[in-house]
Amino acid sequence: MRSRQRMFAAVMRLLLKCLRLGRRRRFRLVRQVEQLWHYGHLCLRSLLYNSFTNGDVVLDSLFEPVYWLVDHVTRWFGVVFVALVIGLTSSIVAIVYICLLPLILQTYTPAWICWHLTYGHWNLIMIVFHYYMAITTSPGHPPQAKNDLTGVSICRKCIAPKPARTHHCSICNRCVLKMDHHCPWLNNCVGHYNHRYFFSFCLFMTMGCIYCSISGWEMFRDAYAAIERMKLLEKERLQVAANQTYYQTPPPTFSFRQRAFHKSVVYLWVLCSSVALALGALTLWHAALITRGETSIERHINRKERQRLQKKGKVSIAHSTGAGWGRARCDVPLPVTQVFRNPYSYGSWDNWKVFLGVDVPRHWLTRVLLPSPHLPHGTGLSWDLPPCVTEQHAPLLAI
Ligand SMILES: [Zn+2]
Ligand SMILES: [Zn+2]
Repeated sequence: MRSRQRMFAAVMRLLLKCLRLGRRRRFRLVRQVEQLWHYGHLCLRSLLYNSFTNGDVVLDSLFEPVYWLVDHVTRWFGVVFVALVIGLTSSIVAIVYICLLPLILQTYTPAWICWHLTYGHWNLIMIVFHYYMAITTSPGHPPQAKNDLTGVSICRKCIAPKPARTHHCSICNRCVLKMDHHCPWLNNCVGHYNHRYFFSFCLFMTMGCIYCSISGWEMFRDAYAAIERMKLLEKERLQVAANQTYYQTPPPTFSFRQRAFHKSVVYLWVLCSSVALALGALTLWHAALITRGETSIERHINRKERQRLQKKGKVSIAHSTGAGWGRARCDVPLPVTQVFRNPYSYGSWDNWKVFLGVDVPRHWLTRVLLPSPHLPHGTGLSWDLPPCVTEQHAPLLAI
């Protein structure tokens, strides 16, 4: 009996020893894994260490493959989009010349013929000229060679000086002076040297589409009704063909020429009115930006900056404005430091004059209403007050 008890105690001791040993081993394993994890973590952090690393950088790095794909697809699609613009515009011009012009010449009065010929051709020349200039003119890039640019930042992608208003285009893979945006319809960046061409193209294209939509409204209604009639007659003809008897004759059909004419008029009107709406909205948006002396990118930057300063209480919400020098409407006078101003705005009217390059009144005709290849003010590297600005404004100051 005693020997049994002794044996039982010995077994229990052995079991306890084993358990202790197992626990110790388990703890050692956990400790080793923990050490390995800390070591790997430290290695990774020391390899990727950057004092500027924050959530945005990590998110950007994660999305880098997506950006790469979008940039490459946009670059490739740019050629397709340009071909599309040229193809669609040519088709509209061809329809006007082949289908509508003979009709206008036969039925309209000489005064109306004169108006349509003059306005139509002027509008067409302006569209072709500005589109050609917008796609072939370089938007302008900062010099790559060593230079003495002052007050610039450094582009992280180009590792080169970046003047004020310059931004890096990831599609062109270059820095662009006074960059507005990369336009796939031009397959080019919109910047300092071709911003006017881009806007003028949008404006004249919208005007042309509105002109075609208004002038072709009556014709579109007739053509649409004719197509409906055509469908009805086709249906009747099929019914007659199915139950044909000796005394039934099929209804008359439209000739190929008539069908092509009606369908072309409907295509012209639908395309022109759709483009007029979409491009008209874009043109209005850009007109608002030009009035404020901002580019699309600066609109975003200025809004963010304004919100940041408002949160800090450095600028007043009611007095924050992007509308130009000293044009903030103040009920209570505030020190200048409390009004947020866009430093590149000279006031609405002067902003337009600077943008269009109007120095003297006759330039409204020669530089705005007629095709003109004149260069914009300045080099896009520094932003001094242009000579055409009428008022004496405060020195360049953001806040
Ligand atoms: Zn760059
Ligand atoms: Zn670009």
